Amino acid sequence: MTAQTMTAPEPPLAMLVELTHRCPLRCPYCSNPLELERRGQELDTAAWRDVLDQAAALGVLQVHFSGGEPTARPDLEDLVEHAAGLGLYTNLITAGVLLDEARVGRLSAAGLDHVQLSIQDSDPAESDRIAGYQGGYRRKIAVAGWIRAAGLPLTLNAPVHRHNIERLEAIIALAVELGAERIEVAHVQYYGWGLKNRAALIPTRAQLERATEVVEAAIERLKGVLVFDYVVPDYYAHRPKACMGGWGRQFLNVTPSGKVLPCHAAETIPGLAFERVTERGLAEIWAHSPAFERFRGTDWMPEPCASCERREIDWGGCRCQALAILGDAALTDPACGLSPHHDALVALAEAESDREPPAFQYRRMTRPEPVEA
Ligand code: SF4
Ligand code: SF4
Repeated sequence: MTAQTMTAPEPPLAMLVELTHRCPLRCPYCSNPLELERRGQELDTAAWRDVLDQAAALGVLQVHFSGGEPTARPDLEDLVEHAAGLGLYTNLITAGVLLDEARVGRLSAAGLDHVQLSIQDSDPAESDRIAGYQGGYRRKIAVAGWIRAAGLPLTLNAPVHRHNIERLEAIIALAVELGAERIEVAHVQYYGWGLKNRAALIPTRAQLERATEVVEAAIERLKGVLVFDYVVPDYYAHRPKACMGGWGRQFLNVTPSGKVLPCHAAETIPGLAFERVTERGLAEIWAHSPAFERFRGTDWMPEPCASCERREIDWGGCRCQALAILGDAALTDPACGLSPHHDALVALAEAESDREPPAFQYRRMTRPEPVEA
């Protein structure tokens, strides 16, 4: 063990809680794994309460209730109330379609701090087509109104790709109209179902540049009205993003069955065993799990990262992307212009985005499961 890994890491800032992988929508860019966990594998209410207790004791400050669709769990209010009681900041990441006004009120009363509502497009028919769910758009608009009426701060999550990128102006206008305080314009990242559908989703470089102009102009125009988070697609980037703020540095992710991951896509990496919070304490996993230790810090880095001045800024980029593109999670993220594989990545993005997009392969369970609130 190195000197670095013997030092206990700082506590994580945030925990993403995937309460369930069930979701009525079928977004082709969903970041959930291709092998979705089933209802029978999900932790029960008592187990999730225990996870929240452990997180607060570990020093986590924020809990993001996510999925799948977290509102498919009838105990969501109970868990929000429990987390709020522990002093945790609570955020709900939802597609919204299972919510009604009364439930939004109950979540607010339970102590929910913030809601991130996803929107697929500003065009109702296109929104429903992308989500693979009829009537979703209409429902989301109503849900946004109930969220604001309950006094909850609203962020609109807008994943962007070649099927909606030309309507980015209208999507931003919709966020203002709905009373959102923040919008996350996030170019789709190619993990999970997004990777499977990359050829259908990836925009051209010209589309990306135009989208960036639209966002930059809107940031100026909407100062004091709407705050922007802008996530660019890695494939055209010059330097990679600090994926999850660095492996095992700021975030942890708990899957519906209780597996603890450094990021939601980490299970794609072969050879890493992820422990369950039902079998080992959260603090122990965070500090000592071999899977968290594997890429934490800088000791694992190959060249050019090992001697690069940005190694503690972007932490070598994304391990899951290195695996997905190069077949080896321990290489420099090919999104980095200093990677010997960067040009090949750009060529791949340009070739795929120039072709007619293939049909979506919608997200699905191998065998469908009922979803109800
Ligand atoms: S990305 Fe779409 S399919 Fe995946 S969990 Fe969110 S709403 Fe459901
Ligand atoms: S070489 Fe590694 S550390 Fe340097 S910028 Fe690229 S990915 Fe980041």
